[in-house]
Amino acid sequence: MKQFKGHLATLAEQGMLRTLREIESAQGPRVRIDGTDHLLLCSNNYLGLANHPVLIEASCRAAKDFGAGSGASRLISGSMSLHHRLEERIAAFKSTESALVFNSGYAANNGIIQGLLGPEDTIFSDSLNHASIIDGCRLSGARTCVYPHNDVQALAELMAKEQSTRKGRWLIVTDGVFSMDGDIAPLPELVSLKERFDAWLMVDDAHGGGVLGEHGRGTAEHFNCLDKIDLQMGTFGKAFGSFGAYLAATRVVIDTLINRSRSFIFSTSLPPAVLAANLAAIDLVASEEGERRRTQLKANRELFSSILSGAGFDLCGSSTQIVPVLIGEPEPTMHAASQLFQQGIFLSGIRPPTVAPGTCRLRATLMADHTPTELRQAAQAIVHVVKRGLAGE
Ligand code: PMP
Repeated sequence: MKQFKGHLATLAEQGMLRTLREIESAQGPRVRIDGTDHLLLCSNNYLGLANHPVLIEASCRAAKDFGAGSGASRLISGSMSLHHRLEERIAAFKSTESALVFNSGYAANNGIIQGLLGPEDTIFSDSLNHASIIDGCRLSGARTCVYPHNDVQALAELMAKEQSTRKGRWLIVTDGVFSMDGDIAPLPELVSLKERFDAWLMVDDAHGGGVLGEHGRGTAEHFNCLDKIDLQMGTFGKAFGSFGAYLAATRVVIDTLINRSRSFIFSTSLPPAVLAANLAAIDLVASEEGERRRTQLKANRELFSSILSGAGFDLCGSSTQIVPVLIGEPEPTMHAASQLFQQGIFLSGIRPPTVAPGTCRLRATLMADHTPTELRQAAQAIVHVVKRGLAGE
């Protein structure tokens, strides 16, 4: 205990201690914190569905009809009709043979990679992939080659070099939209490479699902290559406004995971209310309302990022609703976040180990139901606070 206390005290001295902030209201574009109204600029509720009446109603009805809990893991007695309906709906949405629901995106990435790959296999993983992918690679025991972020040329060279000693299966794995930079993976080029080297391609579309593509089917739809992605992973906790995750793939992949994926096998399955909200969310995302919300989100992103890039900030190559403002060191980053918070703007300051040292940033995430006025004022406040901080004021 003494050691932990010392460690926490050191983190606090370095300005690196992480603490929790309590949200006292429902999740919306504005939330109540410490009794005060704040503009929320760090939620993944991109389309504003977390508080949508259709999802809430679907959840309430499912809880009344099927109860609060699923009672067991899927392979025991926790495989309820709603799990099967949701899996069929996901497969239809993604145009795959089959799909499997996981309890969270973290559990999905762990369980998919561990379930499909072993020590004789090789994984090629983007250097900015999410922590849950990194952990899944470790858990699988496969040899993992990390390639520089979105650098297709470097990946091609790495794969060519590995070819001479190749054994086992090969997997290229990437985020669709990168969570800290807000840029998009070059899927068409990755598809060419996976075809050239006879590898599988897995895309974690936690941040692209619901947002990108004409029907919200994500990054692969954006690039018109849905049928080329072997393992389409996505989550329900972000644009879909609910909770949980899935893999859409072939029947044989799904059956293999049902038999081998530890995070799938050894955990109580999602409860009815969550499953029903997920079903309602897919319908909403695919509907005209979903399209309207995507259009609004895009307009919001253009307005917000044009003010920040116009002020000369480095937005880390972002082209999505995730808009980072690069600052550099932890102290000025956290100082700026705290000043903005005092002005009623809640966004996150991101530090190592989440990002590389020297690349600390403010990270804003936008929602379809932020108003242009709110975003204009927030962007101007960020410009003001960061410029004053950099000038040492
Ligand atoms: N993948 C990515 C790219 C993510 O950003 C996240 C969550 N931040 C996850 C997976 C994990 O998803 P979940 O929150 O559903 O566990």
